[in-house]
Amino acid sequence: MKLFTHLEFDHHEQVVFCHDKASGLKAIIAIHNTHRGPALGGCRMYPYASEADALNDVLRLSRGMTYKSAVANLPLGGGKSVIIGDPRSEKTPELIRAMGQAVERLGGRYIVAEDSGTSVADMLLMGELTQHVSGIAEKCDAEGNCRSGDPSPITARGTFVGIQAAVRHRLGRESLEGVRVAIQGVGNVGHHLARFLCDAGARIWVSDINRDAVQQMVTELGAVAVANEEIYDQEVDVFAPCALGAILNDETIPRLRASIVAGAANNQLAEKRHGTALMKKGILYAPDYVINAGGVIDVCYERIAMDQQQIVQQVDAIGDTLSEIFDRAEQQHIPTDELADQLAEERFA
Ligand code: NAD
Repeated sequence: MKLFTHLEFDHHEQVVFCHDKASGLKAIIAIHNTHRGPALGGCRMYPYASEADALNDVLRLSRGMTYKSAVANLPLGGGKSVIIGDPRSEKTPELIRAMGQAVERLGGRYIVAEDSGTSVADMLLMGELTQHVSGIAEKCDAEGNCRSGDPSPITARGTFVGIQAAVRHRLGRESLEGVRVAIQGVGNVGHHLARFLCDAGARIWVSDINRDAVQQMVTELGAVAVANEEIYDQEVDVFAPCALGAILNDETIPRLRASIVAGAANNQLAEKRHGTALMKKGILYAPDYVINAGGVIDVCYERIAMDQQQIVQQVDAIGDTLSEIFDRAEQQHIPTDELADQLAEERFA
């Protein structure tokens, strides 16, 4: 297995292989870049087919976190960790504690948070062995509504302000009243986004492989239900992917009738060239890692004890960042995802 010549290796500062015999922990922590601050990133637990697959994932995802935090102007670097194993059958308190110990050994260069296959409960358990854990504090708003670590509502808020910025830029409209939005996936983020949009007067079309989730949106918000495969073809202003990655590709881009793509899903472009394809088709694309940064902003400011209102202000700044990206990309005649990378690199170089 290669590291320094690995395709996903990008001058990562530190890659640590962690093992604990008693609990069976096998994990990799990758610290990509700490120029702006400690490397924060989720801990993913997944039954990787091979150690090489786990390494590939942790190298790629930790680099992505550097870009995401830098473009969001956070005092953080990028890191990620992966535990090799099935979270449904192989996760034990001992294994999670051993992971906490592994994080602690890095002395704060890496800050762990939840990710797929791990939970807020797991972070609390790791927190028994390390203080370098985030996404565990209970947060309450002015009305006394409290929530624990779940970042989905704040991610949806960031996505909503991102859609507002895109609509302002592309359609020249200050209000979302009557703007038509097709949401692919109304899970944790998508259903919160649907509510924000409806409250702002937008009309929504939704698809999801979970029929109950779709029905809930139809009943509660008067959304139009769309068959999964037909979501790309809707005559709408905004297409908001909130389910899967790689959904902007050779097959789907020609079908899009929306003039804006702005949603929370990670890794929306199947390949880099699809950013160019969107630009050529005249579609304004809100780069995924910029618009979906609400969660990382939230866990970052939790560590410096900002209150909920201040955190929301920081998340709302996603709209300003996107406006800057849209303007500069237009001036330079380059795709918005390329401009976002440029902006991030300016900030973490
Ligand atoms: P989730 O699993 O709660 O929701 C995803 C929804 O998509 C589910 O309801 C699922 O049934 C549906 N879905 C799956 N395949 C589909 C398909 N082919 N067509 C239509 N719907 C389909 O996940 P989430 O937390 O809401 O995250 C959604 C996306 O946003 C993911 O890509 C995630 O990585 C990204 N994201 C989430 C957060 C967060 O705070 N949760 C933060 C950043 C990025």
